[in-house]
Amino acid sequence: MNGNESRVIVIANQKGGVGKTTTAVNLAACLAASERKVLFVDIDPQGNATSGFGVDKRGLERTVYDVMLGECRLDDVILPTLIDTLELAPSNMSLIGAEVELIDTDSREFRLKQALDPIKGRYDYVFIDCPPSLSLLTVNGLVAADSVIIPLQCEYYALEGITQLLDTIGLVRNRLNPHLEIEGVLLTMHDQRTNLSRQVVEDVRDHFGDKTYRTVIPRNVSLSEAPSFGLPIIFHDIKSRGAESYLALAEEVIANGKGGGTKETSTRQGY
Ligand code: ATP
Ligand code: MG
Repeated sequence: MNGNESRVIVIANQKGGVGKTTTAVNLAACLAASERKVLFVDIDPQGNATSGFGVDKRGLERTVYDVMLGECRLDDVILPTLIDTLELAPSNMSLIGAEVELIDTDSREFRLKQALDPIKGRYDYVFIDCPPSLSLLTVNGLVAADSVIIPLQCEYYALEGITQLLDTIGLVRNRLNPHLEIEGVLLTMHDQRTNLSRQVVEDVRDHFGDKTYRTVIPRNVSLSEAPSFGLPIIFHDIKSRGAESYLALAEEVIANGKGGGTKETSTRQGY
């Protein structure tokens, strides 16, 4: 399956708790389960994705922090996971230090890209999970990526802050990474019983049109439980609606990737 072109996808939204990590972990796991080779790079000092894959973040000798400071290669920190085809570059609180230590260094926005470029060809997909800020770490993610997935929680302030995020993406595109595309906008934690969720879906589709994924992720207890077992949803509760929805999202991501990133629009429909 490992073709010559890998796709590097960053999951970003500076708002906290909108489903970035849940999306990154589960989408990566679904793609790996369909025999794609996947590298997951955790660049959030919270290390939620690292623990979501069952890795004890406290006991790590080396993390992405050491890579960003140029003290070792990405290869030196990559760990296997419970999925054969998925490898993890882990993170923990030490990564907070990178932000400060890099501030006065050359090419500080390119550290992750420089580390990733020599090895990304080994993978079909690389996923990068960002912290809830538009910090240097997130900028490193955007610079290293081909495209960005923006998760939006189905709640009243879903679109708040989106202008700032899009401006940052625009700046990165103009100055640092002209190839950066918006892969898609994903609605998360949808509650079909509420008018509010329905309204948010409509507003987001009005705003982003066919960039909005057809798949909408429901609010689902299994999705929130899975990280406490250190398992992606497909290994925790494959029959759950959460698992179903991330498998559907993985299919959309695969389908959209064909033909150099031109998205077909006709299959996008209202929810
Ligand atoms: P942060 O900004 O802190 O990194 P995040 O954007 O990565 O947060 P998550 O950690 O994925 O967000 O999700 C926030 C919380 O909501 C977590 O407790 C997670 O388990 C829960 N959660 C995420 N998606 C769902 C869902 N679809 N259904 C139920 N709970 C969810
Ligand atoms: Mg997170």
